[in-house]
Formats: sequence, structure tokens, C-alpha cells
Amino acid sequence: MRYVSTRGQTGPLGFSDAVATGLAPDGGLFLPESMPDISGLLPRLERLSYADLCFEFMRGFATDVPADTLRQIVNRSYAGFAHADTAPLVRLDERTHVLELFHGPTLAFKDFALQLLGNLYEHQCRTRGESINVLGATSGDTGAAAIHGLLGKPGTAIFILYPDGRVSPLQERQMTCTGAANVHALAVDGTFDDAQAALKEIFGDQDFRLRHRLSAVNSINLARVLAQCVYYLFAWLRLPAAERGNVEFVVPTGNFGNVLAGWWLQQMGVPIRGFKVATNQNDILYRLFTTGEYRVGDVAPSLAPSMDIQVASNFERFIYSQVGRDPAQVRAIMAAFKATGAWKFEHFDRGTFSASRCTDAEIPGIIQRVHRQYGYVADPHTACAFKELNPDRVSVVLSTASPAKFPDTIKAAIGLEPTHPSLETLKSRPVVKHRLPATAAAIRAYVDTHAV
Ligand SMILES: *Cc1c(COP(=O)(O)O)cnc(C)c1O
Repeated sequence: MRYVSTRGQTGPLGFSDAVATGLAPDGGLFLPESMPDISGLLPRLERLSYADLCFEFMRGFATDVPADTLRQIVNRSYAGFAHADTAPLVRLDERTHVLELFHGPTLAFKDFALQLLGNLYEHQCRTRGESINVLGATSGDTGAAAIHGLLGKPGTAIFILYPDGRVSPLQERQMTCTGAANVHALAVDGTFDDAQAALKEIFGDQDFRLRHRLSAVNSINLARVLAQCVYYLFAWLRLPAAERGNVEFVVPTGNFGNVLAGWWLQQMGVPIRGFKVATNQNDILYRLFTTGEYRVGDVAPSLAPSMDIQVASNFERFIYSQVGRDPAQVRAIMAAFKATGAWKFEHFDRGTFSASRCTDAEIPGIIQRVHRQYGYVADPHTACAFKELNPDRVSVVLSTASPAKFPDTIKAAIGLEPTHPSLETLKSRPVVKHRLPATAAAIRAYVDTHAV
């Protein structure tokens, strides 16, 4: 399997090169040259454990990683999850399920992709005899999950930028209290989008990038999207056969990485009825799916901070298919969007996507309602997805974080303070972070002195 860039001026590359490169040098995002049809495999995949399913799925994509190595990488990646099912599917009523994606080491869904990515990087360092420096920006959970994916791995260093004061105290502790020498938590003076813009500039500097063997860890990495396809497939296979064809996955959405993975799986021939893109008050994607116009707004910090973005970095992969996989049109749209902050699609095809938007004023009430109705405690991101479920569908709500990561919001809503032992131990450890301006120059200077 080979991978092309949405902008058509890089590759095609093999899996390992596309993963190591992250963002394509032409500024685009990697995707499979053609989507394989896996529908014929489905009967064989029934009842596999999570790790076995992941191996069977990934071997069709990671075709340049030896099978026994891939199996070890996958097994190691999910061994640390605290639930026997890895991604348990919990039934709330006859039409509603929750897919719990928060049983990994940092208690959010990003562990699924970043545990795997960390082990893939380690494998690449070993086979190529080279070190690797991983650089990413986070609005909260990505950074923690990326750090825990690479924690203490020889030959690697990880630099994570996050908006100072705009991630939750517990999220910050997950990034800054690791005690690992290869971890650099960089608190920048600005928003997540400022950090991401600085990062884009740094990755655009080919010399710098090659000199430090830099790799991106933000949600655009090909391996992340593929790893996330697996839990949609796992959930689909766990549904009763009668419900499978009518299922709508309801996905708390920020950068469009999570929901993109489900949509790819649908394109691979898995009969999923649809997807709901559930945003918080930072609603660029809600507006897109309801009006056909993609227009940047200001970021307003919210109770669901991991969705506080206005430019959905993975969205370019969706645009690619909107324009009939024509890279020239992708380049034109991205250039116009960069220049004006907006793009209006003439013939927007929303396909099987619908969208909802949830303001901060609504989140506590939804947490209360879900708790009253089902006895279930949803974190503030998951609560956004519960805003309105389609009564004609079987809904699988993706629960992207443990409520224990957001104790204040939960306590204010239902009077209970959820806790988790791994978070309690963090509270006694020292915070180690470095404050920097949100400029490419400052970040570049820091990486220059600390890269491995
Ligand atoms: C990252 C994150 C999201 C948003 O996921 P995207 O892939 O950026 O759409 C939602 N909820 C939580 C808890 C997250 O950490």
C-alpha cells in the first residue's frame, strides 16, 4: 500500500516513510492511494480481541512492517489499557450505546493512536539506527497522549506546545509531571491555533526539519487516523447484526481526526449509516455541514477544551474527496482559505454526515440529563455528542475522555466528583514546563538546543 499527498506534489510513499514524515513536504496530508475494500474480511473479524483486530486491520496498511514485528507493536500498544475489552461498548437503551475510548494511560481516546505511533517510532529508530524528534501542538489531550506514547523511549525526544493556562490543570499535570528526560512540555503564550501556526512554519523549513529528523504528532499523522479506524470497526462488530446497518456514530469533534477515521472505514466498505459531527461552541465544522461554507471564527475557550479549535487540520482530507481527488483543486482551495479565512463550496456534498453544536451553557444540563436518564456520567466532550441523537438511528456515542479528567465541570453539574487513581498520584509530583512565546523562532531555538 502506498500513500499520496492531498496536494499531489509528494510521493507516493510507503507506510513507514509517510508516518515518519507526518505532514507532507508539499503541505498536504497523506492518504491511501486507493481505499481498499475490506467488506469481504468482515466475517473473519468477528469476535477478535481488540489487539488481534488491530493487527488484522493494520497489516493491510503497514505493508512495509514485517508481520511479526507489527503484531508485537500492536500487542504492546494496547497491553496498558485498563479494561479487558480495551474499547468497551456500553448499551444505554435499545437505540443508544457509548463506545468508551478512555481506558488508556491518559484517559482519553488519543491513547489509541499515540500508543501505536510511539511504538512505530521506536521501531523506526531501531531499524534505521537514527534518533527522532517529535514535535506537536495540543489543546489538551493530544500532548498528554503523545508524551505517554514516547515516555522514556530511547532515541526519541518529544516537544509538546500547549496554550499556557488553557488546558485543564489535570491535563497539564499529565504532560508536565512525567519526570522523563526526553519529554519537553512547552507552555506557549497564545492559543492552540497560534501554536499550530508556528508549528506549520517550522515544518515548512526543510533544512531544520531534516537536520533534527522532526516528525509531527498532531492529528494529521497517517498512522493516527488508521489506528482510529480500528475502534469503529470493533464497535460495529460488537453490535447485534440487526443494528449494524442502521448505526450512526456520534463523534465529539475538533480537528476532524476522529470522525475522519470512521468515514474512511465506511469508504472501505463497512456498512455504516452515517456520522454526526458534534462540535462545542467553536463550531466551524457545524457551520460547514449546515451551510457549505468553511469560515474561520475566533476561538472561545470552552468546557470541552480539546475541541477548542477553529481550523480543523484534518479537514483537508475531506476536501480532497469533495473535489474528486484532484490535488490542484485542493491546493487552490487551501490557498484561498489561507488568504481569506473562508471557502464556500459551490456543490457541497455532505454525504452521510450530519452535525450538531453545543454551547457551554448547554453542557452541564446535558451531563445532568444523561446522568438522570441512564445513570451514566459523561465528560464534557462526550456531553456535546449527547446534544441530540437521531431517533431513527442506532446511535453509538464515542466517549472521548474519562469524566475524571474534568472533575469541576462534573461536580458543578451533578454534585459528584469523579476521580481516577492515575490522576491522584500526579497531584503530588512536581510540574516541569518551559514558557515560550508562540513564535516559530522561539520554538526553533528551543528545539535546536534540546533535540536528540
Ligand atoms: C482531541 C479530542 C477531541 C477532538 O478530536 P478530533 O480528532 O480533534 O476531532 C474530542 N474529545 C476529546 C476528549 C479529545 O481529546
